[in-house]
Amino acid sequence: MMFKQLFTPIKIGSLTLPNRIIMGSMHTGLDHTDDPFGRLAEFYKERAQGGVSLIVTGGVSPNEEGLIAPGAMMLTEAKQVASYKLITDTVQQQGSHIIMQILHAGRYAKHDHLVAPSAIRSPINRFEPSAMTEAQILQTIDDFVNCADLAQQAGFNGIELLGSEGYLLNEFTAPRTNHRSDQWGGCLENRARFPLSIVRSIREKLGTGFFIQYRMSVLELVEDGWNIEEAQSFAQALETAGVDLINTGIGWHEASIPTIAMTVPRGAFSWATAKIKQAVNIPVAAANRINTAELAEEIIKRGDADMVYLSRPFLADPDFVLKAKQQRSQEINTCIACNQSCLDHLFNNKTVSCLVNPRACHETIYRLKPKTTRPQKIAVIGAGAAGLSFSIEAAKQGHNITLFEAAASIGGQLLLARKVPGKDEFDELLRYFQVMLDKHAVNLQLNSRVDAQQLKAAGFDAVVLASGIKPRKLTLPGSDQANVLSYEQAFNSPEKVGQRVVIIGAGGIGYDMAEFLSHHALNTDPVSEFNNNWGIDADGKQPGALLKNPAKPTKSIRDITLVQRKADKFGRTLGKTTGWIHQVELQKRGVKTLGDLSYNKIDAAGLHITQRGEAKLLPADTIVVCAGQEARDDLADSLVSTFKALYRIGGVNEVRELDAAKAISDAQQLAYQLN
Ligand code: NAP
Ligand code: SF4
Repeated sequence: MMFKQLFTPIKIGSLTLPNRIIMGSMHTGLDHTDDPFGRLAEFYKERAQGGVSLIVTGGVSPNEEGLIAPGAMMLTEAKQVASYKLITDTVQQQGSHIIMQILHAGRYAKHDHLVAPSAIRSPINRFEPSAMTEAQILQTIDDFVNCADLAQQAGFNGIELLGSEGYLLNEFTAPRTNHRSDQWGGCLENRARFPLSIVRSIREKLGTGFFIQYRMSVLELVEDGWNIEEAQSFAQALETAGVDLINTGIGWHEASIPTIAMTVPRGAFSWATAKIKQAVNIPVAAANRINTAELAEEIIKRGDADMVYLSRPFLADPDFVLKAKQQRSQEINTCIACNQSCLDHLFNNKTVSCLVNPRACHETIYRLKPKTTRPQKIAVIGAGAAGLSFSIEAAKQGHNITLFEAAASIGGQLLLARKVPGKDEFDELLRYFQVMLDKHAVNLQLNSRVDAQQLKAAGFDAVVLASGIKPRKLTLPGSDQANVLSYEQAFNSPEKVGQRVVIIGAGGIGYDMAEFLSHHALNTDPVSEFNNNWGIDADGKQPGALLKNPAKPTKSIRDITLVQRKADKFGRTLGKTTGWIHQVELQKRGVKTLGDLSYNKIDAAGLHITQRGEAKLLPADTIVVCAGQEARDDLADSLVSTFKALYRIGGVNEVRELDAAKAISDAQQLAYQLN
């Protein structure tokens, strides 16, 4: 595909950009490392080398109160300028532009001197904000101007003001959080006074040559948020105040509607961006769940936006732009919107990474290696996530790789994951792996079971065992009955699953299974289905774009009970930022959960349990076992005695910590260690 729209240059304010793709702001957690500026510079450098023309940094606070957490980035004094200059110089030497996002966290700040327009605590923060005095408001405006001024001195091409997702500027514009009765609250004109004063003051101080981008909240998706007409009026006021580009934010962090997870259809919110574009004459950028060049092209072609704002896709692939430009979009390592190694890491106080690209934010640790001068002949057994990743990385380095897979296609456990409704993004990962195997000439042998002697006879120098896992079988009486299926059997043959189902095991796979067996495929387009499901007003006319009378949720097509032995809260092992979505979805469909019990036996009537001393029957036509895994290591012993150089990666290595992110990361680390 040519991507004519994406590569049509555009002049915005003082900047002329060769393409329409902005690398969006991301919290990386690098600010909490030993070398924040050095590591950030390398992180951005690789993206600039990959053809991004405009990078937006992670949020930088204009003052102490605005810090998202202690130790986060802040720019308040001239002595800090030199550190930031390392970043701007590095990016601009690659021919890209970089702007600094100014983020005042407002009532989302995780420290005890946080401020907000009114003293209303956020439901997702235990810290209570104090209401800003008039003097504090005026001081904060000055702080924003000072921060922008210092950013200009540090060589940034401009700034982005973060006025969405429920941070301070957004808290002023929203009736939900602004209960003031002075000139900074009440009518829209008053609520907008604070952010507009900031824009005007920055423009006045730094002149027309300084690029100002504003990320405004379009759909708030919370009660007492504004509606699309107010958002349009505010966008017009931003234009008048001197903003060069409007970037469109969707949903507050405290919204109970997903906005970027895998279950959100691609491009689900570009219709809302289009409404802002209709209201103004300056360029507008669309964001949220845009992860392919094809979709980005379509959004611009349709006229929904002038630019696209992609963040996580640049964790997944630093060369996204270059590959699109060279018509190699099939080689793009696509962000699958899992949040597993990016946002989940961040919320667990770990440096961000990426499930499909573990090098992201670790560029100075896993340095790219030149081709080897001593190529090895390596056999890899198993074409799941670990075997595929290792093969590709090792082949890139010039090793001679043969990848053996017993099944008829690559993918291993990923082939099951992709069957879960809302998880079809895994297809992109499979596509990427296949394209890369071909590109790097990995010798793929499907339908091939091999043994140690064959591998020895073929003269391999080393063997990488990536044969994965098999579902754990229960030892419970009756677990060999015909009405008991492993999760693999249920995913592959859903027609064998009856109407009344008990799922044993409520880990990630138990939840996925409940989703798979309860889902009712509707014949509407995915965006309408998503809007109906989550009660979103697709005209945006209601406050917060929330429907007054949302449609009743569609019930499960089966009667499903998810059971676990422990007394813990259900869903504790699910992703930090996505687990709640699965739980809400299943609750809406009427899937039941039952814990704190022991299993006695299975028979034709169902699962017999004891709960708090009482024996019970859970009637079921089918019992699906999602009780974890065992290593598929039948070959291990014979390989150990045949090969000195034998490595294990993925589930066969550490079955308890099995997950695609770990499998890919371990595989790539092993590949980097090869000579
Ligand atoms: P898991 O998370 O370890 O859950 C296994 C479940 O089976 C537990 O709830 C456990 O609960 C139960 N169980 C364990 N041994 C059992 C036994 N002998 N008899 C009966 N029940 C038993 O494993 P998983 O669900 O298979 O997931 C595997 C990996 O894939 C995990 O690392 C998971 O995080 C990952 N994954 C993640 C996602 C995601 O959405 N991020 C999705 C799928 C998989 P009790 O002991 O309380 O009964
Ligand atoms: Fe995308 Fe998942 Fe990587 Fe995050 S971890 S950037 S969501 S693929």
